[in-house]
Order: sequence, then structure tokens, then C-alpha cells
Amino acid sequence: MSAAVNTISLSDNGGNLSWPPLQAEREALSNVLASQDEDLFAVLLDKAEECRATVLGNKVYPRGLIEFSNLCQCDCYYCGLRHSNTRLGRYRLTADEIVALAREAWEKGYQSLALQSGELKSSREVKFVSEVIKRIKDITAHDGSQGLGITLSIGELAYQQYQQLFDAGAHRYLLRIETSDPKLFNQLHPPGQSFQKRLECLQALKDIGYQVGTGVMVGLPGQTYEQLAADLLFFVERDIDMLGLGPYIPHPDTPLASGPETVIANPYKTTLKMMALARLLMPYINMVCSTALQTISADGLAMGIKAGANVVMPVMTPEENRSDYSLYAAKKYSSFEQLRHEINAAGYELVLGEWGDSPHYFRRRQL
Ligand code: SF4
Repeated sequence: MSAAVNTISLSDNGGNLSWPPLQAEREALSNVLASQDEDLFAVLLDKAEECRATVLGNKVYPRGLIEFSNLCQCDCYYCGLRHSNTRLGRYRLTADEIVALAREAWEKGYQSLALQSGELKSSREVKFVSEVIKRIKDITAHDGSQGLGITLSIGELAYQQYQQLFDAGAHRYLLRIETSDPKLFNQLHPPGQSFQKRLECLQALKDIGYQVGTGVMVGLPGQTYEQLAADLLFFVERDIDMLGLGPYIPHPDTPLASGPETVIANPYKTTLKMMALARLLMPYINMVCSTALQTISADGLAMGIKAGANVVMPVMTPEENRSDYSLYAAKKYSSFEQLRHEINAAGYELVLGEWGDSPHYFRRRQL
């Protein structure tokens, strides 16, 4: 039972794994993920917790999450924000509104913000976001302070647009691959969106100098344990700095909601196992405890942290807009105080006053 777990040894970047991965490595990971053995589940999470305590301590870093726009030109088959979903009220916060939220976050002691939206590739939109970032930096980065750290999650853009946003002051970027299997990727996205383009974007972000985050959904229709194992090895091979993993939660107004049932036995537990394995394979990455994990189970936050998560995203989106930022059904929103209470109860510390960057980034860049 735990022999399978023991094949996953601690390494900085999966250095004990080969690439392309050996079939045996994929099989070992796949077997762990597919197992319904409760003892194995407990051992795996204990190992991840031990690894995280050794390498990262007990700190959990908040990113104030501002979902500033739900406008999107894409049509991903699983997402409630998809362009074709006409049942959604669309909104975009003004620059003044976003900057006011950033100021509020700063005054409360946050050191990092995550600005998230649907995908709009126009130069006008990128200029808008760049100017917002500059204004946030202007009001927070002075008197020797580096100001609010800015994480972006606004989709696939051109290299120069990523550069423009980096030059404006953003330094982390989240772009989920959703699955590392090109065939499954094509089943989740319309023909205009390509797996290759997603890979190119991830590489561009890395080349520019961002701390790069990616992630997948767990429990997608048609997804297999072998594909999830390959996802883990993909994160290692891509040497990613940050990771977000969440169980797939269907949105009723999307084509995928009427797709076939998932063959993943328990997406919640499988997500936790994926997180624990990722923590063991890449001890120094930052890993978020996704809202999807917290939505699907009341103990999602505590279990996600036990499985290795060290980042949370308290939502700062105005209340009147939250229900329209509908990536999936019945999304849970937790305030900073709620998160702090649950994190403390789990024996961890929610930390203000530090950026909490990914240690993996500095190690891979030898900084
Ligand atoms: S996943 Fe992102 S790009 Fe796709 S429809 Fe949703 S918001 Fe748009």
C-alpha cells in the first residue's frame, strides 16, 4: 500500500523522474490516484503535510481576489462565463472601482492581489489592465515598500501583451492548462482554442520572468486516472512555480454539464491526492486551496491545506457582482475572517505582511 507512495520521493523539481516519464512512473502515480484504500489516502496526506512543514512551515498566504470582469470572448465547454451563455449578467468594474478595492486590501494588510477576469485579447483591454496595475503600484509601492504583489489570471494573450503587463508591475500569472492531454483538451474547448497555443502562452510567461502557475480540473467527463498522473508529470516537466487544482463542478448552462459521467470515483478525494502528490513531487511550489475544493466539501479548506496548499484567495469582488462570476455552480465565497478562523483551527497561520512568493521560482532562477 504505502510502497506506492514511497516511490514518490522528495525532490526539488522532480529530479528523480525522467522525461518523457517512464511508463512505470505514470503507472505508480495512476495506481495511487485510482486506489480507494483509506489507509493509503491517510498516509499520502500525512506525507504531504510533513513535507510541507519541513520545507515551508505553517504559513498560508492570502491573495485578495478581485474578479473584475466576467466578459469573455471564449466558449470553453465547461465554464459558466463562456461567451455563449446568455443567461449571465455581464459586468466589468471600472478602473476606479478596482483601485479602490486594492487600496482597501492594502489598508487591511494584504500584500498580494489576484486580478481575474474572462479572456479579452484586445489591446484596449490589456492597456486597461496595465493602467490599473500601475495605479495600484503608485498608491502602494513607496517609502521603501514593494507595494501590493499582483497576480494576474486573464487568459491567453500575445507575448507582447504579457510583457506589457509584466512591465506595468504584475509578477505572477495563473493560466490553467485544464488537462495535459491534447485530446481531452480538444473535448473541452471549441476548435478555435488550441492546446499548443496554451503551451506557448505558458512558455512565454516563463520566458518573460513571471512566476507561472497552472493547474487542471479533476473529475472531468472522459478523464482517466492515467491522464491525471500525466498531469502531475506535466507540472514537473514544465517546472511550474504555482499550482491550482480543483474538482470539476458542472455548471448547468454549459454543454459539458450534459456530457457523460466522470469515471473518477471521488473527485474531491482525488483532488486532495493530486495535491499531496504535487507537494511531494515539487516541495517548493506555491499551491492554492481552490474555491472549488472548498465549495464541494465543508472541510475542503482544512483538508486542502493538509494536502499541501499554502495559498488562499479571500474574495474581494463586490457582493453584487459575485453571482455573475459564475465559473461553476454554487461557488463558495469565504471572507478573510472566515478563512483565518478555519486556517487557525487547522493549526496553520494566515500571514499578512509578506508577499509569500513561490520559493520554487527563486530556486529555478537561482536567485
Ligand atoms: S475558462 Fe476562462 S477563457 Fe474559458 S470561457 Fe471561462 S473565463 Fe472564458
